[in-house]
Amino acid sequence: MDAVTSTVPDSAPHSHTPAAARLIGITKTYFKPDGSVLVEALRPLDLTIPRGQYIAIMGASGSGKSTLMNLLGCLDRPTAGRYELDGKAVESLNDDELSRVRGQKIGFIFQAFNLISELNIAENVEIPLLYQGVSASERRVRAIESLALVGLENRVHHRPYELSGGQQQRAAIARALVGRPAILMADEPTGNLDSATGQAILEVFEALHAKGLTLIMVTHDDRVADRCQRVVRLKDGEVEYDRIGARRGFTAKHGGAHGAAHGGAHA
Ligand code: ADP
Ligand code: MG
Repeated sequence: MDAVTSTVPDSAPHSHTPAAARLIGITKTYFKPDGSVLVEALRPLDLTIPRGQYIAIMGASGSGKSTLMNLLGCLDRPTAGRYELDGKAVESLNDDELSRVRGQKIGFIFQAFNLISELNIAENVEIPLLYQGVSASERRVRAIESLALVGLENRVHHRPYELSGGQQQRAAIARALVGRPAILMADEPTGNLDSATGQAILEVFEALHAKGLTLIMVTHDDRVADRCQRVVRLKDGEVEYDRIGARRGFTAKHGGAHGAAHGGAHA
C-alpha cells in the first residue's frame, strides 16, 4: 500500500479534475490599529496549481512568499478573494473547519525539521494521525509506510539526534506524508543542509512528484528552483513572473504561465 499514490488516485490533470489549488483575486492586507492600511502583502493574485505539479515559489525577502504559503496551507485566511483547495472553497471557513481541512489536505515541511527529541522517529511521524483519531496499530503501519517512502524504514526506533541532518529532514517529510495530503508544502527544505544532502532531499521530492504528489516549495536557490516544473517569482505581493521550467527542459504540459495568470485550470 502506497501512502502517496493512494492520496492521488487521479494524478494526471484532466479538465474534470479540480486543480490542487486555485487562487482567484486573492489579497492579504495588514492593517494598522487605526484601520488604515499597513501593507498589502498580496495584491489581487490569481494562481492555479494543477494536481501533480512541482512548483517553486521565489522572491526577495518581504515579497509575500510566507503570506502566500500560509494561505495555501490554510494557516491563514485571505482579506479578499476565493481559494479552492482540491475543488473546495476554503476562504471563509471558520478556524475549526480550516484546521480540519489543513490536517486532511496539507503536509508541511520546514527548514528546521521540528522533530521532537523525546520521541523516536516512528512516534514523530505518527503525530499528525493523533489528531485524526487513527488507531495506534494503524498509526504505526502508516508511519512505517511513510518512512519507507523516504528510505528510513530501518530507522524507526532511532531518536532524531541519532540521525544525520538529511535523515532528520527525511523523517520530517515522512511526517508530512503520513496524513496522505493532497499538497506537500515545503519552506526552504534544503536551507539547513549541505549541498550533497540537499541534493538527496530533492531526489526524494522528485520521486514523490513522479508518484503524482503536488509539491509547493519556497526556495532562494536558483539551482533548486531549476529542478522544479514551474517557478513563480513574487515581487511586492504580485507575480513578477511565472514560468514553466524551461531551463532544464521541462515542457509546458502541466499548465502554463498564461493559464495561471488568468486563473484558468486549462491543463
Ligand atoms: P516573505 O516571506 O517573502 O519574506 P512575507 O509574506 O513574510 O514575505 O511578508 C510580506 C509583507 O507583509 C512584508 O512587507 C511583511 O513585512 C508584511 N507582513 C507579513 N506578516 C505580517 C503581519 N503579521 N503583520 C504586518 N505585516 C506583515
Ligand atoms: Mg518568509
